[in-house]
Amino acid sequence: MAKIHILDEHIANQIAAGEVVERPASVVKELVENAMDAGSTVIEVSVEEGGLHSIRVTDNGSGIEPDDCETAFYRHATSKISQGRDLFQITSLGFRGEALPSIAAVSKVTLTTSSNTDGRGRRIVIEGGQLKVNEDTAAPRGTDFIVKELFYNTPARLKYMKTIQTELGHISDYMYRLALSRADIAFTVRHNGNVLLQTMGGGDTRNVIAAIYGTGTAKAMLPIEAEDMDYRISGFISRPDWTRANRNAMSFIVNGRYIRSYALTQAVLRGYHTMLPINRYPLMVMKLDMHPSLVDVNVHPSKLEVRFSKEAELTALIQEAVQKVLMQEVLIPRPAKQH
Ligand code: ADP
Ligand code: MG
Repeated sequence: MAKIHILDEHIANQIAAGEVVERPASVVKELVENAMDAGSTVIEVSVEEGGLHSIRVTDNGSGIEPDDCETAFYRHATSKISQGRDLFQITSLGFRGEALPSIAAVSKVTLTTSSNTDGRGRRIVIEGGQLKVNEDTAAPRGTDFIVKELFYNTPARLKYMKTIQTELGHISDYMYRLALSRADIAFTVRHNGNVLLQTMGGGDTRNVIAAIYGTGTAKAMLPIEAEDMDYRISGFISRPDWTRANRNAMSFIVNGRYIRSYALTQAVLRGYHTMLPINRYPLMVMKLDMHPSLVDVNVHPSKLEVRFSKEAELTALIQEAVQKVLMQEVLIPRPAKQH
């Protein structure tokens, strides 16, 4: 008798959730990235108790068509790619169609959305992957997600959640990067009602740096720009005397996506060479733009790691660009600090 069978959608979603939804911050990341992909200009995030109690993300983006609302929660359901070759030309943050089914499998989700401005929309409630409500409702254009009781039906995972402060730390860390990656979007992040981050959405990255790291730091950052045939670099790096004890304030944004990269981090540090005190790291926001075919973002479910097809060329360009900015700074001393 045959022993192999295909798992049902519900179990498959719970398995995928293990990879996609590691902790509250992963839910925040996925929901906010969806809001960004939807063309939103204003995104509000409210979390309670480090996101363990509830996470709410509200946007003013395209909204979801009423007939698409249930489908959006199916596995591999996406509006962002449709053909195999699209995988080599990714321009959106999402594309795997895994976030919503994964989140809904391990929490209680309420989605309210409208894709028009006539005030009519759709509301969906899903608990532990089971559809409870799918009804017409009044709603402004945009999308509102409320995720409650994350991991309520996966006690083993719940047990591994850290303190509220730790979970909140992960959330603000992601939100800082997302805000830095899109200075044109106005973000508000609240925890238990208190504002943690607020950006204005005017498009100036220095203002976002000010909102996160303070005005003094923002003023002291040095602009960096470079390009070659394949890559364009822009952003800000700190003066060598403006450092931190860890690498957390080094953000790379590749085609609008925040990523982590050991190779790129090392390239920046090589650029500072001996100017950095030992075990100190710069503050940095570096945007890298390239043809989507030069970067593979489909390496890991969270898409935090990517692969560059010409990594040596890119790291050389980064190192040189950093060196150049710092050399200018050393050769042309700036007037005394005025803050
Ligand atoms: P992906 O982002 O990989 O496409 P998701 O599971 O995150 O997959 O979302 C599924 C689909 O639901 C998206 O492709 C999009 O069409 C829709 N969607 C999700 N969130 C939003 C949102 N905030 N605004 C508009 N559409 C959304
Ligand atoms: Mg998504």
